[in-house]
Amino acid sequence: MTDTPDATAPKRIVLVTGGAGYIGSHACKLLAQQGFTPVTFDSLSTGWAQAVKFGPLVQADLLDRAALDAAFAEYQPCAVMHFAALSQVGEATRDPGLYWRNNVCGSLNLIEAMVDAGCSNIVFSSTCATYGDQDGIVLDEDSSQNPLNAYGASKLAVEGMLRDFGVSHGLNSVIFRYFNVAGADPEAEIGEWHQPETHLIPVMIEAVAGARPALVIHGNDYPTHDGTCIRDYVHVMDLARAHVLGLDWLLDGRGNRVFNLGTGVGFSVAEVIAQCRAGTGHRVPHSFGPRRAGDAAALVSGSRRAVEELGWTQERSSLKLMIEDAWRWYKTGGYSG
Ligand code: UDP
Repeated sequence: MTDTPDATAPKRIVLVTGGAGYIGSHACKLLAQQGFTPVTFDSLSTGWAQAVKFGPLVQADLLDRAALDAAFAEYQPCAVMHFAALSQVGEATRDPGLYWRNNVCGSLNLIEAMVDAGCSNIVFSSTCATYGDQDGIVLDEDSSQNPLNAYGASKLAVEGMLRDFGVSHGLNSVIFRYFNVAGADPEAEIGEWHQPETHLIPVMIEAVAGARPALVIHGNDYPTHDGTCIRDYVHVMDLARAHVLGLDWLLDGRGNRVFNLGTGVGFSVAEVIAQCRAGTGHRVPHSFGPRRAGDAAALVSGSRRAVEELGWTQERSSLKLMIEDAWRWYKTGGYSG
């Protein structure tokens, strides 16, 4: 992959499930910049039509097998990037059936449609939530996986599905287990926009902007240095870049591989809040509340494998830049207009 694709080369099509969502839309932007045509397949149940700026949109649900078959027939993608999923720990804990149906049954439909269409390359968004609580160790791809909630369990199930279809049908997969994704496109064309918002950095920004009451810290009695949960935050553009590298890996025929995408450095909720002033110029109004069910005390990962094998680099994954980019995006008004 070069930074300046040959303008005369035929465009290669990638089907991007969840391309109207936060991470998927950033991947689409980068795919388009790299000479691919991203075709978004998205139900718009949590995504935004306004985020689909870099290629066509197929508005349909992964549970709709006929719509999947039609999309594969029309576009004949060389690969799939599979982002579409529900991803809120609290909701998953309250309503696990929703997560098993959407994330697991939807992925099975997708994989079977790929097999039938002869599309054999998939980059899959998995999660650090598949690891569960691991006493604060820095995780690697061989760490044991014991998810604490239905979100992590549903992603782990899809990882198993990909392995099985690799054996039975020669499906090639790159699985990315990501840690906490944050920030936005530095050009603020696209960004994170969930309704309702539950993720720490955008909630913090809404609290700073006065768009919601004070941020509630979910628990300060965890076994961490300040009692609040520790997470490893990665910039969404760095993550998008890893996905394009994973796609190249598959198209080069390098086979199945799992990669963690973290920075190796964890920040507590209190430390993220303390950085808010550097990124936005404002302090965050906050208070303390009870723990949120399903939260692990600490999740941090190294990314040695992704760095050494994919050549992945983290260019914007400092807390300050992630908060700055998220703040710049928030001030555009997002997709609310
Ligand atoms: N968090 C919090 N208050 C909020 C949102 C999140 O204290 O309003 C905490 C949450 O309990 C977790 C961390 O921030 O420890 C990151 O949560 P987020 O929902 O952003 O991502 P997750 O780790 O669940 O994927």
